[in-house]
Amino acid sequence: ENGRWDSIWLAGVRDKEPETLFDKIISGEIPATIVKEDDKMMAFKDINPAAPAHVLVIPKDRNGLTRLSKATKEQSEMLGHLMLTAGEIAADESLGFGNGARIVVNDGKSAGQEVFHLHIHVLGGREFTWPPG
Ligand code: IMP
Repeated sequence: ENGRWDSIWLAGVRDKEPETLFDKIISGEIPATIVKEDDKMMAFKDINPAAPAHVLVIPKDRNGLTRLSKATKEQSEMLGHLMLTAGEIAADESLGFGNGARIVVNDGKSAGQEVFHLHIHVLGGREFTWPPG
């Protein structure tokens, strides 16, 4: 019966997590142009695109995952799913991709992270330079 109490406790913890901007996109409170979605993830167009094609891939159940460096082994499957989705989007010509993409996770403020709800940036439709700025 531990499992049951664990999930009740976890549900409580989750309720106390501050809602992120992206939670509001998931709930539909903030509108977004959704390009791909299933029960575990949502992919939508970035509101301030840094390239002609710019999509964000996020987990629906963030479960404490504010940033990649906080990820645990238990989240491996979800992370794999997000990464595979990012790859599918990067190959989708109908979205303006298909000729190489920059796939990025900003981890922490100094790396440019502004929204603390894990997300993968998929950028395409132009040439990219290295190193990034
Ligand atoms: P970060 O800087 O890696 O945290 O990326 C956050 C991204 O979210 C930025 O590229 C923003 O342009 C994007 N963003 C912020 N608000 C919205 C929104 O309401 N809809 C879609 N994208 C957003």
